[in-house]
Amino acid sequence: MQLTVLGSSAAYPRAGGACSGYLVEEDKTKLLVDCGTGVLSNLQKVASLRDVKHVVISHLHADHCFDLIPYRYALMRPPNKGFHPHLYLPPGGKEALLKTVSAFSEGSTFFSEFFRVEEYNPRTKLKAGSLRIEFALVRHYIDGYAMAISGSKRMVYSADTGLCDELIELARGADLFLCESTRCSPEDSDWGHLTAGEVGTLSRKAYVKRLMLTHFWPDCDYTRNVREAEASFGKPVEVAGELCTYVL
Ligand SMILES: [Zn+2]
Ligand SMILES: [Zn+2]
Repeated sequence: MQLTVLGSSAAYPRAGGACSGYLVEEDKTKLLVDCGTGVLSNLQKVASLRDVKHVVISHLHADHCFDLIPYRYALMRPPNKGFHPHLYLPPGGKEALLKTVSAFSEGSTFFSEFFRVEEYNPRTKLKAGSLRIEFALVRHYIDGYAMAISGSKRMVYSADTGLCDELIELARGADLFLCESTRCSPEDSDWGHLTAGEVGTLSRKAYVKRLMLTHFWPDCDYTRNVREAEASFGKPVEVAGELCTYVL
């Protein structure tokens, strides 16, 4: 099982970078988790779109799903024409995405003509090829879902969230915990996101084996986040490197 980070910026991409997007692979299964601004470009650097059969979206903030729009156009064109990946959206996602594109598309099949679109039930496990996904509703400004992705190992992705018990439960014993660390100054009281200190503490409580921070504001000095997370986690902490692949 392996993870390739396609984008790690919060809200807007840093120069040359991308917002949230992660490619998780097990055997021949390639699962794209989130598809924020810039992700489609980076995805094509590491995979053929015809090999990516599953796409899952944590929540409908732009930095997690807006590259689904160019992705849809890429599926219209050779060599991807006729290939229809599964697109798993959070509850309510179909209608919300159609509203987003309504300024330039009146058709209700804008996405469904090219993706096999379905809304996942967060209370049940989803099978995506060789991988299984378990969801937990976390604490954010709109409904968003953290995911435990299991294959030969178990990886947990926080999505965007403030501190909540649901995340600690889901992260318990994870081989890799990929966690947002958006708040980069002590004055930042943004309740829907985590400080690095909170990330380290919850990872220690959840007996996480390996911790990786992600979802940084491009102007954030994340070396400080790493120091704070390591102090509360009690072990070394990694940073999600764009276009880096990590073997679990
Ligand atoms: Zn975000
Ligand atoms: Zn968000």
